[in-house]
Amino acid sequence: MLETLGMHYVGGRWITPLSDATMPVTNPASEAQIGTLAMGDARDVDRAAKAAAEAFESYAQTSRDDRIALLETLLQISRDRLEDLAKAISTEMGAPITMSREAQADAAVGHLEGFLEALKSQTLRETLSNGDILLREPIGVCGLITPWNWPINQIALKVLPALATGCTCILKPSEYTPLSANLYAQMIHDAGTPPGVFNLVHGDGPIVGAALSRHPDIQMMSFTGSTRAGQAVTRDAVDTVKRVTLELGGKSPNLVFADCDLETQVRDSVLECMYNTGQSCDAPTRLLVERACYDRALDIAKHTAESLALGDPAQEGDHIGPLYDEIQLTRVRALIQKGIDEGARLLTGGPDRPADFQKGWYLRPTVFADVSNDMTIAQQEIFGPVLVIIPFEDEDHAIQIANDTPYGLAAYLQTGDPERAERVAARLRAGAVHINGGAFNYGSPFGGYKQSGNGREGGLLGLEDYQEVKTLHFG
Ligand code: NDP
Repeated sequence: MLETLGMHYVGGRWITPLSDATMPVTNPASEAQIGTLAMGDARDVDRAAKAAAEAFESYAQTSRDDRIALLETLLQISRDRLEDLAKAISTEMGAPITMSREAQADAAVGHLEGFLEALKSQTLRETLSNGDILLREPIGVCGLITPWNWPINQIALKVLPALATGCTCILKPSEYTPLSANLYAQMIHDAGTPPGVFNLVHGDGPIVGAALSRHPDIQMMSFTGSTRAGQAVTRDAVDTVKRVTLELGGKSPNLVFADCDLETQVRDSVLECMYNTGQSCDAPTRLLVERACYDRALDIAKHTAESLALGDPAQEGDHIGPLYDEIQLTRVRALIQKGIDEGARLLTGGPDRPADFQKGWYLRPTVFADVSNDMTIAQQEIFGPVLVIIPFEDEDHAIQIANDTPYGLAAYLQTGDPERAERVAARLRAGAVHINGGAFNYGSPFGGYKQSGNGREGGLLGLEDYQEVKTLHFG
C-alpha cells in the first residue's frame, strides 16, 4: 500500500508524478507516520486532463448497457473489498472500524446500487409535446475534489455518476486520506474501466485543485469541502465557464418539540451529532429545544454525551475516534474556548485534551447550554464533537432560529404531531429534513440550500448534474 502512495493513476496506469513534493501521511490515533504521499502539480493535472479528454471521445459513445455492465462489475468488487476499504479509512482518518465498515465503506456499495437503479430507469431520449426530441448526454471531462471526513462516500458520489453517464474524470482526493482513494482507484481499474476514463492526481487544493478548476479541457467541477474552498473553486472555474456543483458546510438545526418522545429523540440527536467525531457536514449541531422541556432535555443530553466512550479506531465497538488531524483539534479546541468566553454554559466536555490519552487527536464530547444563536459556536461550522443547545418559545420562534444561518444543508425535527412535522418542514430552508430520526437513504438526493452549495448528489438527480441536454428540431 505504501508503495502506490508515491504514484498517480493516469491513462489506466500508476505513474510517477512530475513534481517531487511530498507530504507525510499520519494515523490520527497513534500520531505515527504511515506513509509519504507524492504530491502533484499543474503538469500532472495537464497529463490527466489530456488522458481524460482523449478517453471521452470513445467513452461518451458507449451504450447505457455497457456502462451498467461496468458498474455491476464494480459493485461486486466493492462488496468483496469492503473490509479493506473500512480498514484504510479507519487508519487514515480515525473512524472506528465498526462504523467505518457499516457506514463509511458501505457507501461504496449503497451509492452504487442507488446510481445503478437510477441509470436503468433514466429517460435518455424523449419526445416533447411540440415534436422536438430531447437527449441527455455526458457533459465531458469532470474535475472532482473530495474531503477527508467521509472519503469514500464523497468519492463514490462523484466518480460513480461520471462513469454512469459517460463522462471521464480526474479525482483529487484529500491528501489526508490517500489510502482509501488509492484502493478505490485500483478497484475501478480491476473492474475493467477503459484507460483515461478515471484518473487520480494527489496533491493539495491550492495547487492541484486550482489547476483542475482552471483547466480549459475540463467542463465541470464537483467539489465537497469548506465554503471557503468552494468559493475558490467557483472563482477559478469562471474564466472557462465550467459547471460547478458544490457540497459545502452546514450548521444544521434540530428542532425538539415537547410533544416528542423526549428521552429517545434527545439521546439519538446527541449521538447523531457526535457520530464520526462530529466531522459530518450535515450533523445536527444546533439543538433547538422548546422551553417546556428544556431542563429535562439538558439532563438527557449531558448524560448521553458523558456515556460516550473515546477509543482506538482499530477496536470494534460504538466508541468515537480522534479528530482527523492536529489542525482540526486545534481549531475545535479554539472554538470551544470561544464558546466559554462568549458566555455559553458548558454542560460537559471542554477544550482540554483527555488525560487518559497520551497519543492521538482526541477530544471529549462537548455540550453547551443557554447558547444564543448569534454566538460564534452557533454560527460557525465546528466540525468536531460539539453540540450547542438553544431554547425556543414556540413554533415560529424555532423556525426563525433554525433559518438564521448562512447554511441550509440539513434540518432535523422531533415531534409527535404529524401535521406539525409537515408544516414546520415546509418552512425550513434546507436540502433535507430528517423527521423523528429518519435516516438518509441511498438513491435519494443530497445537497444544500443557501451557502451549503448547489446541485444534488446521489440517485437520478445526481446523474443529471453530469449531463447536458440537447434538443433536436426537425425540419
Ligand atoms: P477544505 O475545504 O480546505 O478541504 C476539502 C478539499 O478541498 C480538500 O481536497 C482540499 O485540498 C480542497 N481544497 C482546499 N482549497 C482548495 C482550493 N483553493 N481549490 C480547490 N480545492 C481546494 O477543508 P479543510 O480540510 O481545511 O477543513 C476546514 C473546514 O471545512 C472544516 O473544519 C469544516 O468546517 C469544513 N469541511 C466541510 C466538509 C463538508 O463535507 N462539507 C468537508 C471537509 C471540511 P487540501 O486538503 O489540499 O487543502
